[in-house]
Amino acid sequence: MPNKQHFETLAIHAGQEFDPTTGAIIPPIYQTSTFVQNGIGNFRGGYEYARGGNPTRTSLETLVAALEGGAHGFSFASGLAAEDALLRAILEPGDHVVLGNDVYGGTHRLINKIHSRSGIENDTVEMMDLNAVQKAVVKGKTKVLWLETPSNPLMKISDVGELAEIGHAAGAIVVVDNTFASPYLQKPLALGADVVVHSTTKYLGGHSDVLGGALVMNDAELADKVGFQQFAAGAVSGPMDAWLTVRGIKTLAVRMDRHSANAQAIAEHLVGHPAIERIYYPGLESHPGHELAKKQMSGFGGMISLGIRAGAKAARKFAESTKVFQLAESLGGVESLMGYPSEMTHASVRGTALEVPDNIIRLSVGIENVDDLIDDLDRALPKR
Ligand SMILES: *Cc1c(COP(=O)(O)O)cnc(C)c1O
Repeated sequence: MPNKQHFETLAIHAGQEFDPTTGAIIPPIYQTSTFVQNGIGNFRGGYEYARGGNPTRTSLETLVAALEGGAHGFSFASGLAAEDALLRAILEPGDHVVLGNDVYGGTHRLINKIHSRSGIENDTVEMMDLNAVQKAVVKGKTKVLWLETPSNPLMKISDVGELAEIGHAAGAIVVVDNTFASPYLQKPLALGADVVVHSTTKYLGGHSDVLGGALVMNDAELADKVGFQQFAAGAVSGPMDAWLTVRGIKTLAVRMDRHSANAQAIAEHLVGHPAIERIYYPGLESHPGHELAKKQMSGFGGMISLGIRAGAKAARKFAESTKVFQLAESLGGVESLMGYPSEMTHASVRGTALEVPDNIIRLSVGIENVDDLIDDLDRALPKR
C-alpha cells in the first residue's frame, strides 16, 4: 500500500512503532541471536534465527524501503556487502556488467577482481554519453547496468531515466548507487531504475559511527533472490548497527538541507579562486550536469571536488593543512572531511580507466557553521 506521508515524517516513523509491551517510544534493540519457538516451527512474530531476521533489522529495512519508495528493503553489514549480495542474486557465469567509469572504486574492484573469478565480464563506460552506453550494452548478455549519480569523486550527473531505458531494452537490471544524493534528494526507482544501492555508512547513518549497506527494489522475484543471498551468505547488519542507522536517518532531511546549503556557499565562494583550476559541484550553473541535476534531484548535496591548479604536491599540502576539515576516508557525516581520492578512496583503481587525476581533492561538507568551513579552506589553500 503506497504511503502518502511526506519524506520527513516517514524518516521518523516508518517501521518505528512503539514497543507494545512497555510503550517505549523507541523500539528496543533486539540484541539477540535466536528466538524461542512456541512449538517446533511455530515462531513467535515470525522470527527464528537472527541471520534470517531480527526485528531491529526489519525496522531499518522497512524505513529505507519507505524512503526510497520501494516495496522491498534489505540491510547489510556494509555497502559492499549489499552490492555483493545483489550481484550474486542476479548474475550467472558468462554474464556481463556495464558500469560507470567513475563509480566508487570498491564497486569496480568487487566486480573486476572478485566476480570476474566466477566468469562475470565487465566494461566501464562514460554514463553521460548515452551513445557510448548504447554501444557498451550487449542485448541478452548484459544483465546489470550500474550507475552512480552524482558520481564519485568527479560529481558527474547522468540521466537515470534515459539510462534505464537503454538498460531495459538490452534486458539488464538497472542499478543506481544513491549514496551521494540520499533518497531525500533523489529517488532512482521513481526515475526508472530497478534497484537502489546505499552505503548507509554515509549520509543515511550520517554520524560516522556505523558501517552498513542497503538495497531497495520493487520486483518481488528479485527480492526473493536477494533475500536468499542475505540469509544464505549472511552479511547482515547486527542489531546495534541497524539501530544506530535508524537513529541517524531520522534527521536525514534537516541534515541534507544543511549539507547542501553549506556546500553551495563554499562552491560559490571558491569560484574564481586562483589556486583552483576547476570546481566540481552540480549546484554551480557552470557545472555541465547542472540542468539535469535540477531535473532529477531536489538539491545538490554536500559533496564537492576541487582540482588544484598547482598540481599533486599542492593538492596534498592543502589536504594536510585544514583544521576543521579532517583528512579521512568516507563522507556523509555531520563533520566535514577531506580526502585525496587518487591515494585514498580510489587507490584501488589506479592504472585503470577509473583512475582519478592526482590534483583532485574531495570535500564532504559537514553541517558546521559555514563561515568556519570557508575560513578553514581559505587558510589552507595555496596563497593567491
Ligand atoms: C562508501 C561507498 C560504498 C561502499 O560502502 P561501504 O559501506 O564502505 O562498504 C559504495 N558506494 C559509494 C558511492 C560509497 O561512497
